Amino acid sequence: MSELLNFNFPPEPAVDRVTLFADVILPLPLPKLYTYRIPFEMNDEVLVGVRVIVQFGAKKVLSCIVADIHENAPADYQAKYVLDVLDDKPIVTAPQLKLFKWIADYYMCTLGEVINAALPSALKLSSESRLQLHPSYEPEEDDIPLATQEVKIIYALQQNQALTFTEVGNLLQLKNYHKYIKSLIQKEAIIIFEQVSDKYSPKVVKKVRLSEHFVQEEAMLEELFAQLTPKPKQLDILLNYLQKVPVHQDKNLNIRGLEKNVLTGNPHLSQSAITSLIRKGVLEQFDQIVSRFPTDFGAMQMPMALSEHQAEAREEILGLFKQKDTVLLHGVTGSGKTEVYIDLIKHALEGGGQVLYLLPEIALTAQIVTRLMKVFGDQLGVYHSKFSDNERAEVWQGILSGKFQVVVGVRSSIFLPFHNLSLVIIDEEHEPSYKQYDPAPRYNARETALMMAHLQGAKTLLGSATPSVETYHNCKTGRWGLVSMTKRFGAAQMPDIELVNTRDEQKRKKMHSHFSAKLINEIEARLHRQEQVILFQNRRGYAPFIACDECSWIPKCKHCAVSLSYHKYNQELRCHYCGYHERMPSDCPACGATTLKSMGFGTEKVEDELKLMLPNAEVQRMDLDTTKKKNSYQQIIADFESGRTNILVGTQMVTKGLDFENVSLVGILNADTIINFPDFRAHERAYQLFVQVSGRAGRKGKHGTVIIQTRDPLQSIFRKVRNNDYLALYEHEIEERMRFNFPPFVRMIKITVKHEDERTAENSAIVLAKELTDQLSKEQVLGPEVPYIFKIRNLFLQEIHIKLPRQSGQLSSSKRMIADTIHQLKLLPDFKGLRVVVDVDPA
Ligand code: ADP
Ligand code: ZN
Ligand code: ZN
Repeated sequence: MSELLNFNFPPEPAVDRVTLFADVILPLPLPKLYTYRIPFEMNDEVLVGVRVIVQFGAKKVLSCIVADIHENAPADYQAKYVLDVLDDKPIVTAPQLKLFKWIADYYMCTLGEVINAALPSALKLSSESRLQLHPSYEPEEDDIPLATQEVKIIYALQQNQALTFTEVGNLLQLKNYHKYIKSLIQKEAIIIFEQVSDKYSPKVVKKVRLSEHFVQEEAMLEELFAQLTPKPKQLDILLNYLQKVPVHQDKNLNIRGLEKNVLTGNPHLSQSAITSLIRKGVLEQFDQIVSRFPTDFGAMQMPMALSEHQAEAREEILGLFKQKDTVLLHGVTGSGKTEVYIDLIKHALEGGGQVLYLLPEIALTAQIVTRLMKVFGDQLGVYHSKFSDNERAEVWQGILSGKFQVVVGVRSSIFLPFHNLSLVIIDEEHEPSYKQYDPAPRYNARETALMMAHLQGAKTLLGSATPSVETYHNCKTGRWGLVSMTKRFGAAQMPDIELVNTRDEQKRKKMHSHFSAKLINEIEARLHRQEQVILFQNRRGYAPFIACDECSWIPKCKHCAVSLSYHKYNQELRCHYCGYHERMPSDCPACGATTLKSMGFGTEKVEDELKLMLPNAEVQRMDLDTTKKKNSYQQIIADFESGRTNILVGTQMVTKGLDFENVSLVGILNADTIINFPDFRAHERAYQLFVQVSGRAGRKGKHGTVIIQTRDPLQSIFRKVRNNDYLALYEHEIEERMRFNFPPFVRMIKITVKHEDERTAENSAIVLAKELTDQLSKEQVLGPEVPYIFKIRNLFLQEIHIKLPRQSGQLSSSKRMIADTIHQLKLLPDFKGLRVVVDVDPA
């Protein structure tokens, strides 16, 4: 037992005290849970779901989650002691632990990987963690009593901004310093962060509000008036406050209070009177952290009155919920699904349950958050990957404490500590981005949310204009309920969809670079009418590759088997798989010719050419390259919304969930690259993409037009898109899936084998496929095959696809067999350094 642990040795056990052990989940990819011994004095404090500090390995001390408590000492090792307990109450709830175990089993990863993804790093402490002062903590003003050791830490933080745990240990000359850190966190004097980039520096505004008891009873407020009447300066301030925050109309307004500088900045008000009111406890001061999303959401609003169609849909949904746990709301783009969700959320909250509203990453914009804030106010928590880690930890704690009853969030919200869910909404349920590709857990938030709802007895509403084939199949077979909205809200019509044959146009010399004459004319017409345009191109950068006209040389990535994309604004060639980049050469390194030509086109080129062709138009581009900075995405949307921008050019980002009133034209520049993607879902995906991007046009009043440029307008998919004929798409797809044995008729698992050496990758994949075929069957194991991009980040890839029948009993035993087989394979000396990635239900 190491030196470090001795300090925490409990006294000799008394005979009648029970020796307890805790199985803990360490935030590491370990195949099993580890058991630690609970010191007697902590017997009552260690609970399932709390964090405890333990030592792991020789040096590392870190926090982990207690998954189980029992009396069985581990058989094969001497249990170390739990060093400290961090929480009074569980921070991971019982239903959450069940869900995490399900994720680990179903998606074939470890519980440690799940916990690691689930917990914001501010809730994961380790010897490498750092701490800083809480942004709203002011040591001089705050009168929370601190222990001497705590004062030392605070003092050091005032000098140093941030300290690591080890530094705190050295500072205090103590080994069990964790309890002081824990205590300071509880007193909200410090916060923890894991990486320098997570350091928390939110904007904080000072606010004031009336002390709560003056607001709760009218008599109290009247008494206050009477009290202040002899002090006109103070009375003045009270009146000023009530004018801005009319609590007599709505008590709840007081909670949000008023920015302090509205009073202090008013020259007609007495500063000393403000101070006295605060000192007397009439006004109380508080800090509000200004979040990335608007927190000052203006006046609270009642939900909008539902239209007849919406009210019908709501009644049908509630009716179906009586018999079924899951319902799909299939509503065309612009049918007003959001208002139906809002109404159902209200209903669920009235029943006292929690609500999770899931949205794909890029659909979660200020637009939707503002809308929800207006209705749900402070009860609404927002969970977004662009949030700082501490902001995420706040949402986590807010759900546990009951502050947040509704959460609107992205994929990772399924990890949040709900314990009393009554409704889950999965908007845009068809979105591929609900699936996490990398790293593990490679979960699908839609499936996981369904399981979470199931475990907590909640209802689930899926929503989409273009449901996934799997979801629609579940409705068709009667497992799930189906409710449809076939009309747009109000007077808005579905847009007209026109096809332009770019092959013909080219022959007739009617193409201006990548724009047909038709598209240009239509754009000009909109600009003339002060209407807005969205153009969609599925590639970022200027050109997907460049080539030498003389010798056909094409620059490739040094680390991946792909060509480098050309980015003009910084004259770079860039790999979209590993990030490798180099300067664009001025002439061909192979033959010296100066005839390097860009091939194909991306969003940057579209933007560039538009600016040349239409010099008076304001054009903005929205893609991965223009939205890297924290607020740039919100800014681009705000500019477009306010009309500052006329044309928005972008990748998939412009297709999702946006609601702009003034857009009357949408252009899809090159439909063919989307349709011809080699994947069994390509057809479905293309349909979804075309319909969703078209759905941005003509959402309110103005008639919308969509122009799709393609070299082959006769493809059947266009007929379905034009007629908005989802059913035709579904029927075509489901038949193909049945015929060729694809989901939803089987479950797929994709295994990717990676190795630095091409032969080793190939040989190991052959061995693996053979083993798996022996255990399953030839029909169930496909491959190995070399994927289209056969090398990424210097690793050669091989893929094996497995198709398993849907009966769940066999499913879990097959998964165990696959995991074992892979484990054995990696132990073989020939395949040293082999990496194997298992992706269940690959997107
Ligand atoms: P969807 O999500 O189905 O594409 P939205 O919920 O964005 O559609 O609604 C489309 C438009 O109609 C939005 O601008 C929305 O504000 C408006 N709208 C929807 N329902 C109502 C309602 N009941 N009253 C007023 N406006 C509504
Ligand atoms: Zn050349
Ligand atoms: Zn690369």
